Amino acid sequence: MTDTTSTRSALTFEVNRRSDPTPADAIAKVHENPGFGKTFTDHMAVIDWTSDGGWANARVVPYGPFQLEPAAAVLHYAQEIFEGMKAYRHADGSIWTFRPEANAARFANSARRLALPVLEADDFVESLRQLVSVDRAWVPEPGDSGEKSLYLRPFMFASEAFLGVRPADGITYCVIASPAGAYFSGGLKPVTLWLSINYARAGAGGTGAAKCGGNYASSLAGQLEGIEHGCDQVVFLDSSTHTFIEELGGMNLFIVYKDGRIVTPELTGSILEGVTRRSILALAEEVGLRPEERSIPIQEWKDGAESGAIAEIFACGTAAVITPVGELRWEGGSCNHRREGHDDAVALKLRSKLLDIQYGRVEDTHGWLTRLV
Ligand SMILES: *Cc1c(COP(=O)(O)O)cnc(C)c1O
Repeated sequence: MTDTTSTRSALTFEVNRRSDPTPADAIAKVHENPGFGKTFTDHMAVIDWTSDGGWANARVVPYGPFQLEPAAAVLHYAQEIFEGMKAYRHADGSIWTFRPEANAARFANSARRLALPVLEADDFVESLRQLVSVDRAWVPEPGDSGEKSLYLRPFMFASEAFLGVRPADGITYCVIASPAGAYFSGGLKPVTLWLSINYARAGAGGTGAAKCGGNYASSLAGQLEGIEHGCDQVVFLDSSTHTFIEELGGMNLFIVYKDGRIVTPELTGSILEGVTRRSILALAEEVGLRPEERSIPIQEWKDGAESGAIAEIFACGTAAVITPVGELRWEGGSCNHRREGHDDAVALKLRSKLLDIQYGRVEDTHGWLTRLV
C-alpha cells in the first residue's frame, strides 16, 4: 500500500476549475444509480504531445468537447489506446486506486504497439491524482452493494490533422471519470455467452494484447451476432485454428474445476492481460485453489460441462470485477455446466476478496493500493 499523495511526476498541472460545478445534491442523485459510463465528472485532465516538445501543457480543465479537425488521424487510422481503472472511497474518506503501476505499464505497452508516445508511469498516476483531487466529490461511498466507485478512463489519440499514413506527430492524452455502480444492470445473474466462429477479435501479430479502441470495434460484429442469439457477451477463439479459448470482447475468462484447479488461457500475444486476471491468479492460492495458465481447447469447456468436472466459469475485468458465466451457445448447439443446486462460491469469494482489498476493508497485504487523495 502506497499511503502517500506526494508525486514523483515532473509535470506541473495547471488547474482551471469550472465556475459552475455540479451541486452536491445533483451528484448525490447520480450516485444513487450511477449505472456505467453515462455521467461524467466536472473536469478532465489533458496533456499534449509533439515530437519536438514532448509532453506539455498538463492541465485539469472543465469536462467538455475537444476541438478536433476532421482530418485528425485518429478518425481515419484509429491510432488510439485507453485504460480502465477505478477510484475507491475508503471509510475514512481517503481515495485510492488499485495497482495503477500495472495499468501504467500496460498503457506504455499499448502505446508502443500503436506507435504512440510513452507516458511515464509517474506522470500517468499523477494525471489520475490531479483529476480525482479536483473531482473528489464525485467518488461515491461504496453504497449498499459495496461496490460503487469512480471509473477512470485514461486514453490517448492521434490528434494531428494529417492524412498521410505514419505515426502522428500531435497526440492528446486525456483522463475522464464517471461514477460507476454495478456494470451489468441485472446484478450478479450469470451471463450467457456466444461462441464466435465467424469473427475473431485479434490475430497473431495483431493488436490483441494492446488495449486499443480498434480491438473493440472489431469485436462488435461478433457481439451483435451474440445478441441475435440471445447472448450477453461473446467468447472469441484463437484466429488461426478456432480451437483455443482467448477471451471475451473486454474481459478475461476463468474455468474452475471441482478438483480445485482454476484455469485461464495463457497469454499468447492476442489476449489482453487483465489486471483483474493477474490479481485473481495471485489470490487463487490463498483460497486453496491451484491456478494454471495454459491453452484451453473450447472442447474442454464442452466436455467439462457435460461430465460435470467444471464447477464454475467466470469472466473478469475492472468494470464488472467478476461475473459468473452460465450457458455457452454456438451455431447449432449449447452447453451449460450449471446443475441443480449450483452456486458460484469461488467467483463470489474471489470477488469479495478483491472488493475488500479495493475498499480498504481488509489489510492490503499485496501492496496493491495507491492513495490518490
Ligand atoms: C480491459 C480488458 C480486459 C480486462 O482488464 P482489467 O485490467 O482486468 O480491467 C480484458 N480483456 C480486454 C480485451 C480488455 O480490453
